[in-house]
Amino acid sequence: MDDTLKSRILEAVSDGFEEQITFTQDLVRYPSIRGQEHTAQDFVYKALNERGYTMDRWSIDTKEIEDHPGFSPVTVAYDNAINVVGIHRPKQEQKKSLILNGHIDVVPPGPFDFWETSPYDPRIEGDWMYGRGSGDMKAGIAANIYALDALKRLGYQPASSVFIQSVTEEECTGNGALSCLVRGYRADAAIIPEPMNEMLTRANLGVIWFQLKVRGIPVHVSDAGSGANAIEAAFKIITGLKDLEKEWNDRRKNYPLFADLDHPINFNVGKIEGGDWASSVPAWCNVDMRVAIYPGVDPRDAAKEIKDCIDQICAADPSMANMKPEIDFNGFFTEGYILEEGSDAEKCLAKAHASSFQSSLETTVSQAYLDGRVFVLYDDCPCLVYGPISDNIHGFNERVSLSSIERVTGSIALFIAEWCGLEKISSCK
Ligand code: ZN
Repeated sequence: MDDTLKSRILEAVSDGFEEQITFTQDLVRYPSIRGQEHTAQDFVYKALNERGYTMDRWSIDTKEIEDHPGFSPVTVAYDNAINVVGIHRPKQEQKKSLILNGHIDVVPPGPFDFWETSPYDPRIEGDWMYGRGSGDMKAGIAANIYALDALKRLGYQPASSVFIQSVTEEECTGNGALSCLVRGYRADAAIIPEPMNEMLTRANLGVIWFQLKVRGIPVHVSDAGSGANAIEAAFKIITGLKDLEKEWNDRRKNYPLFADLDHPINFNVGKIEGGDWASSVPAWCNVDMRVAIYPGVDPRDAAKEIKDCIDQICAADPSMANMKPEIDFNGFFTEGYILEEGSDAEKCLAKAHASSFQSSLETTVSQAYLDGRVFVLYDDCPCLVYGPISDNIHGFNERVSLSSIERVTGSIALFIAEWCGLEKISSCK
């Protein structure tokens, strides 16, 4: 691609950027937490349909994916877990096909009072847009769409097939992206503009979710010795699991990409509830946990280690003899992945990034779950997880850098032009 065309593409991204930001704000206004993704997906569907893409939408059907090795168990209904795909077909397939993927689901914002302004009322201040999902990753979904729009503004479309995916379930199971794969969506490369601070993700960790159901014996506090306190038992189990966390972190030297990190593996107690009354020994306590595993570790092996650890904790404490908890694996059950170095897709992104940013592409590793694993592990597809600078994702006052979004969109547009090739849009179309 000559330099003039590169400059024109980057200019076209700038020309559409104001509209892109408005579109991103519109997306942030939809509170697309789990179970409520459908209205945001309607908005994305409409936006893609208006642009003339061939459309596909469906609710995830667990029956279609439950036998796949990448499936995560699920305890909620999938009625509103709708995936949307816009399909571009060229006049003639000339180069390589591409999936542009993003997830529409966001994590709960927590108490609104803790935000400076409402999490679903995206405000712009200086270079930042604030709001739940602004960085993670509605800016990325918009970047995918507007990168293609920029090419269109110049009278071009990709000369290869492109699939624009807006998926659900990225924040809890990864079943949304998996459902796209099982439905037959495949390509020569994929891009996911997650908020990776303008770096390419070389590897990420797998994630496992589970709920501990600790059951005790309720008695009046005055006779506490004859009961069994489920909340106190839960704390003992959590403390014991933190020892396992330390052990897993000590294993990082076996995983070169994670060996230099201080604490790659995080066990998180994400939610806890239990008991009914301050003066009764609590009979129950449910603890929701998330743990991470290194790439290459089978989640089934990790789950066994967790179960064995809990067995040992309970066996070592006579007061917990009859309190062995039930363990319910109720979400992520996913392997991590490593993106092989030096693929054509990576080289293409490095060139696009250099033109858009005037700097070379750096790589990073992620300690969080990424849908990239679906492409890399189960389709041998180079998946480039690469997106804008953001702060406080999953926290209060989440924000994303506007100038960073613009540059990332430029990189994506240049990538598409090079990877897929370009053809003139027919005037009759
Ligand atoms: Zn994300």
